[in-house]
Amino acid sequence: MLDNLTQRLAKVVKTMRGEARLTEANTADMLREVRLALLEADVALPAVREFIANVKQKALGEEVIASLTPGQALVGVVQRELASLMGADLGPEASQLNFATQPPAIILMAGLQGAGKTTTVGKLAKYLREQKKKKVLTVSADVYRPAAIGQLQTVTAQVGADFFPTTPTDKPVEIALAALDYAKRHYHDVLIIDTAGRLGIDEAMMLEISAIHAAVKPIETLFVVDAMLGQDAINTAKAFNDALPLTGIVLTKLDGDARGGAALSVRHITGKPIKFAGVAEKLDGLEAFDPTRMANRILG
Ligand code: GDP
Repeated sequence: MLDNLTQRLAKVVKTMRGEARLTEANTADMLREVRLALLEADVALPAVREFIANVKQKALGEEVIASLTPGQALVGVVQRELASLMGADLGPEASQLNFATQPPAIILMAGLQGAGKTTTVGKLAKYLREQKKKKVLTVSADVYRPAAIGQLQTVTAQVGADFFPTTPTDKPVEIALAALDYAKRHYHDVLIIDTAGRLGIDEAMMLEISAIHAAVKPIETLFVVDAMLGQDAINTAKAFNDALPLTGIVLTKLDGDARGGAALSVRHITGKPIKFAGVAEKLDGLEAFDPTRMANRILG
């Protein structure tokens, strides 16, 4: 078991009790430990670098109150900075979905294959129906994998939402527009559009999802990313963030043993709020994202 950050820092600062300020000299070893802790949590290197630079800037010159060791003071700075990067300063509204539009509110799901998009559509449909009393329609624009359309149909039925059927010979943009037309005529409050994902970033996929976005102008464009993705999270997030005006992130598979460094990498590159966390395969396994809890998890 890894030590948590407080214990790690306590080891390197045993000799420094009684110092009145955090200085370049007394924080260098500790910042090295923070850096290691973040890398062990799978935060991508560019995000680690920027984070350490910020912490250093905030910490240097900070007074160490008498009851604390420099290590404890630095842990405080690290925790505050990380929670703030995770979105703690944005307030609880940051994780809310935006419905301020003429119904139906359209939610477009983006992400790699296997990230958890289809499962998350089911979870969102359940949450919106049960907690927000919304009438929800789902549709799959994944014409490349008929099994994916079937999977969405199944999860939609499980949560009691409505499903707009498609056939793999239809074109993704036309599917999205037809579903939108249906949703308008049947007074759905929300239309959730699931999209095709590839195993890696691919230009054709990006063009296709951009075309869907341009055609239906969703109020929410959610990037779904697997918390287990590790260092690659940053490249994937960059590609989707460059291609689409994302409005939020869903971090899935947080029930696994990933320390969650992907959260920091994705926040670093997109600056967009993480709105939800996937915490189980089951369709009730969706939670509002909690920045402080995530910060503590990353720090171990
Ligand atoms: P898609 O290809 O992006 O649509 O991904 P899927 O929704 O098919 O999910 C891929 C796999 O991840 C499936 O086996 C899901 O059950 C699983 N999955 C999705 N979200 C979670 C989660 O939050 N926790 C766990 N443990 N598994 C998840």
